[in-house]
Amino acid sequence: MNPAPPPFPTHRLGQLVDLARDTPGFMPDDEGLALHDAAVRAGRAFDGATLVEVGAWCGKSTVYLGAAAEQTGAVLFSLDHHHGSEENQVGWEHHDAGLVDPDTGRIDTLPSWRHTVVTARLEASVVGVVGESATVADHWGTPIALCFIDGGHGEGPAWADYRGWAPHVRTGGWLAIHDVFPDPADGGRPPFDLWQAALRSGLFIEDGACGSLRVLRRVDGA
Ligand code: SAH
Ligand code: MG
Repeated sequence: MNPAPPPFPTHRLGQLVDLARDTPGFMPDDEGLALHDAAVRAGRAFDGATLVEVGAWCGKSTVYLGAAAEQTGAVLFSLDHHHGSEENQVGWEHHDAGLVDPDTGRIDTLPSWRHTVVTARLEASVVGVVGESATVADHWGTPIALCFIDGGHGEGPAWADYRGWAPHVRTGGWLAIHDVFPDPADGGRPPFDLWQAALRSGLFIEDGACGSLRVLRRVDGA
């Protein structure tokens, strides 16, 4: 019989949380910790659990989720086409000119994402998937213990993420949605609408919230 794995050293978790905090992105510290917490529960609930992140940017949420993967023996698939969402393009609120590839003229966050994951020494637990979310979802076959949706927030991309990924969350697994704002004055509607749709579907129940992060658990027997 294999000996029990050593407990996850607290200094390692502290190091990863510090790194996540220093990584550019769109995830407040408390929400990152709540996301990490949900992912630890998911990683513990299933042997060799599969975690999926939709929308990675420079790897901030990736580190919170990746820490949970390392801690529980899960694997995180971190998906992004790395060209940024609509709101990251030139002239929009969340544009960063430093992330534009001078040759292609397009945003490319893949080098930054990779830098983050390598610096975090999370390569054994985190696999990058570069491509269009809907395409990957269509070809995906593995039941997911936790899926974190934080991709494009326009109507089209957000609903495509929900329709593509929610069915892959296994019974007893978790669906986390970011940027859910009940008050429209605080932010766009689609993530809120997705969250409502998930609850109305009868497949998911509420299982935690922090800031704009909503955590749901799949309860049906499908
Ligand atoms: N989770 C990140 C922020 C993600 S920002 C953090 O913690 O900071 C949203 C990301 O979704 C962007 O990097 C963008 O490139 C990606 N994205 C948007 N629409 C996408 C799509 N249809 N397929 C793949 N990635 C997409
Ligand atoms: Mg977000």
